[in-house]
Amino acid sequence: MNDSFDVIVIGGGPAGYPAAIRAAQNKLTVACIDGWKNRDGSSAFGGSCLNAGCIPSKALLESSELLHRAQHEFAAHGVQLDGIGFDVTRMQQRKAAIVKGMTGGILALFKAAGVTPLAGHGRLLPGRKVEFTGADGTKRTLQAKHVVLASGSEPMPLRGVDFDGKAIVDSWGALEFEAVPKRLCVIGAGVIGLELGSVWRRLGAETVVLEALEQFLPMADSVVAKEAQRHFRKQGLDIRLGAKVAGAKTGKSGVEVRYADKSGEQVVVVDRVVVAIGRRPYTQDLLAEGTGVVLDARGFIQVDDHCRTGAGNVWAIGDCVRGPMLAHKGKEEGIAVADLIAGQYGHVNYKAIPSVIYTAPEIAWVGQTEEQARAAGRTVKTGSFPFAASGRARAMEAGAGFCKVVADAGSDEILGVHIIGPMAGELIAEAVLAMEYSASSEDLQRTIHAHPTLSEALHEAALAADRRAIDIPNR
Ligand code: FAD
Ligand code: NAD
Repeated sequence: MNDSFDVIVIGGGPAGYPAAIRAAQNKLTVACIDGWKNRDGSSAFGGSCLNAGCIPSKALLESSELLHRAQHEFAAHGVQLDGIGFDVTRMQQRKAAIVKGMTGGILALFKAAGVTPLAGHGRLLPGRKVEFTGADGTKRTLQAKHVVLASGSEPMPLRGVDFDGKAIVDSWGALEFEAVPKRLCVIGAGVIGLELGSVWRRLGAETVVLEALEQFLPMADSVVAKEAQRHFRKQGLDIRLGAKVAGAKTGKSGVEVRYADKSGEQVVVVDRVVVAIGRRPYTQDLLAEGTGVVLDARGFIQVDDHCRTGAGNVWAIGDCVRGPMLAHKGKEEGIAVADLIAGQYGHVNYKAIPSVIYTAPEIAWVGQTEEQARAAGRTVKTGSFPFAASGRARAMEAGAGFCKVVADAGSDEILGVHIIGPMAGELIAEAVLAMEYSASSEDLQRTIHAHPTLSEALHEAALAADRRAIDIPNR
C-alpha cells in the first residue's frame, strides 16, 4: 500500500472527514486516520459528533420530545391517546441504528471520493511524517505534503466529581443510560446540560441542574435567556444558579453532590450525575518532539485565521483549535483548508456561525446579541415578533417564543438574529445567509415569505425593527 499522500488528515470527526473528502475532490491523494473506539472496542469514523454527540443526542431529544408532545399537546389538537407509554430500550436501539448508519456512511463517502481510511492512531513527526499505529499495534511511517490535525475535544473533568462510568458520567455516558434515573443531577447549565437534562426530564427523571454562574445562558441574548429559563423551569428542570460544586460521594442512598450557593452549603442526593461543564481540546500523543506545532495556554493548537499552525504545511481545524466547539464550524474550516491546500480560495466567516440549542422551545442565534452590539459601541434598533402571533405556530400548538432582529440604527445592517421557538434551528439559516451577504433589515423586510410559515416571524421581526410590522401593534 502507498505510504505517501498529498494530504493526511488526523481525526475523522466532522472537521476531519469533510477536509479529507474536499481534498480528494480537489484531485489530491488523501488518507484520513481516526482512532475512535466504541464501548465494544470497534472503530468508527465520525468523531464525537456522530458517535457520542450531535447525532445520538438529537435522536434522543426527538424521541423524548414526541413523548412530551403526546402527553401534553395532543389533547389540545383533539387527539386522544390512551395509555401513552415509552420504551427506553427501543429509543436507545433507534439511536444506535442512526449512529451506525451515519458513521458507516462516512466510509461509503470516502470510497466514492477516493479517500484512504486508516483506523488507528496518528502521531505527527517532524518533516510532515505521520506515525500510524493500526488497531493490531503495527506501526507505519507515512509521508505527506500537507497534514491536517483534527483531533477534536474531550469532556472537561470536575475535580472531586470523578467519572466512574456508572453513577457519575460525562455526556457520552448520559446518552447511554439504559433506564431513566429517578433522580438526576446535571452539573453545568450549558448546551449539553440543557439538551441532555431535557431528554431525561421528559422521560420522567427528577432533574436538578447546578450552574456555577449567577447568570443563565450568558452567551444568548438576555431576553432569549430569560424566556428559555422560564420554559425550562415550567418543564420541571430545577435549575439552580450560582451553585459552586465542591464534590460528590457515592453511598448507599445514591450520589451526594455537595455545593455552595448564596444561602450556604447545600447537598442534593441523586441516582446519577452528569458532568457537563465544557470540553477541552484533545491532543494526547498527537505531536512528537520537534514538529513546530505549538499549543496555547489552554491546550488548543495555535493557528492563524486560515488554520495554519506555523509549522510548514501543517494545518489544524475543529474543536482542537480556537473558536466555538461546533461541528459546522469544524466542517467549514476543513473545507476551507482543503481548498487552500489545492491553491483555491478558502475562507471561514467566523462572524456568521449559527448556534442552536435543541431544547423545546428550540434556541438559535447568529451574530451579536443586543448587549454585545451596544457594548461594541453600535447604536442599535431591534424588532421582535412573538410566535403567538404566527398563524402557522398557532396551528402547530407551538406559540411559545419569538424572533428578534438586532440591526445597526444608522446603516440598517443586520448585526444579529435571535430566535426561541419552533424550528429555531432551521429558521436561523435564513438569518445566517442574510448576514453572510451583509443584508440590511430592509432586505429581509422586502423578501417574500410564504404564508402561513414560521419564517414569517423573522420577516415580521425585521419589519418591527422599523416599526412597520403588520401582524402585531408597533410600539
Ligand atoms: P471530534 O468530533 O472530537 O473528532 C475528532 C476525532 O479524532 C475523534 O474520532 C478522535 O478519536 C480522533 N482522534 C483524536 N486524536 C487522534 C489521533 N492522534 N489519531 C487518530 N485519531 C485521533 N455540535 C454541533 O454543532 N451541534 C450539535 O448539536 C452538537 N451536539 C453535541 C452534543 C454532545 C453531547 C456533544 C458532546 C457535542 C456536541 N456538539 C455539537 C459538538 C461537536 O460534537 C463537536 O464540535 C465536533 O464533534 C468537533 O468535531 P472535530 O472533528 O473537531 O472533533
Ligand atoms: P458549555 O460551555 O456550553 O456549558 C458549560 C456550563 O457549565 C457553563 O454554563 C459553565 O458556566 C458551567 N460550569 C463550568 N464549571 C462549572 C462547575 N464547576 N459547576 C457548575 N457549573 C459549571 O459546555 P457543554 O455544555 O459541556 O458543551 C461543550 C461544548 O459542546 C460546547 O462548546 C458546545 O458548543 C458543544 N455542544 C454544542 C451543542 C449544540 O450545538 N447544540 C450541543 C452540545 C454541545
